[in-house]
Amino acid sequence: MKNSRKRTLVTGGAGFLGSHLCDRLVAAGHDVLCVDNFFTGSRDNIAHLLSVPHFEFIRHDITFPLYVEVDEIYNLACPASPIHYQFDPVQTTKTSVHGAINMLGLAKRLKARIFQASTSEVYGDPEIHPQTEEYWGNVNPIGIRSCYDEGKRCAETLFFDYRRQYDLSIKVGRIFNTYGPRMHPDDGRVVSNFIVQALQNRPITIFGEGNQTRSFCYVDDLIDVIILFMQTPDSLTGPLNLGNSSEFTIRELAELVIDLTGSQSKLQFELLPEDDPKQRQPDLTKTTSALGWAPAIALHDGLIKTIYYFDDLLKRGCVIEY
Ligand code: NAD
Ligand code: UDP
Repeated sequence: MKNSRKRTLVTGGAGFLGSHLCDRLVAAGHDVLCVDNFFTGSRDNIAHLLSVPHFEFIRHDITFPLYVEVDEIYNLACPASPIHYQFDPVQTTKTSVHGAINMLGLAKRLKARIFQASTSEVYGDPEIHPQTEEYWGNVNPIGIRSCYDEGKRCAETLFFDYRRQYDLSIKVGRIFNTYGPRMHPDDGRVVSNFIVQALQNRPITIFGEGNQTRSFCYVDDLIDVIILFMQTPDSLTGPLNLGNSSEFTIRELAELVIDLTGSQSKLQFELLPEDDPKQRQPDLTKTTSALGWAPAIALHDGLIKTIYYFDDLLKRGCVIEY
């Protein structure tokens, strides 16, 4: 392992996905530099790593330049939950666009390979189903989700222009809804919301009629595929869809969570937010053939692990009781 030890930068490393990625990179013997401004991430997510000799943390906002020396970069910094990315939409766009420019500039100076955490949101409210990487998307440029969607689209543009203009080694992964331990209990995303509501026997808030679909990937599967993608030759740039293609309606998810938690919660139907995509499912053909990878963890099994995590948080008094 020693010869292949890399100095690795993870931006957004104190967030949900970033902290799992840091864990895996440290476990694989790499030196990990975690950069985060704690906008949605937390020290708790990386507390267990702070005493590890090969792990280092810098509190920094990636919309400002960063001068460090590393061999490769995973760019994950950006709030992912609609509540959080809509809280300060200008900062969200800046994080995606200025952040990408800063991280790409760093990668260019260091001749370092760089991964971009892009998103299924680049497809907007898709008119084709399932979504293939060739689909250009159906995105509202001026709506409440645009700061995130268009920011991530512009970041993809920047990544491919740095590739064309400077021959940078880029890996662009379009991540579909991913869930698991260390999601923020109040971040408003559907899996964390439903589990916390069910564990507290509160109403399960279904937006709209719950017929909209999402395809949920367990975090361990996603981290596997990101690391695998990063190890491929320069010629494989992506974009590649990363996720799990098992598609569920939001109502089915609610019923499964109630069932698995044995909750007394009832369904409560609320207004569907503006521009909420009606259906979402990754076509994983390209990813599977390029990487020989497929997700291994079914929603049922991933939910049980996630429920266990939130149940423990609640028992330790780490979640506000309603
Ligand atoms: P998260 O909110 O838990 O993590 C994002 C992290 O980025 C947080 O720790 C936050 O503090 C940090 N951050 C935000 N702005 C920053 C800035 N300007 N400078 C430095 N740090 C900053 O979200 P997540 O689910 O872990 O998502 C990680 C990445 O994956 C994001 O880029 C997100 O867009 C992408 N993604 C996630 C999903 C998903 O389902 N989880 C789906 C698609 C894409
Ligand atoms: N959703 C819901 N109730 C909630 C939170 C979300 O019905 O308490 C719905 C939301 O409207 C969307 C889906 O669940 O249709 C997924 O929402 P999330 O915010 O997790 O992710 P995204 O919309 O970005 O895929």
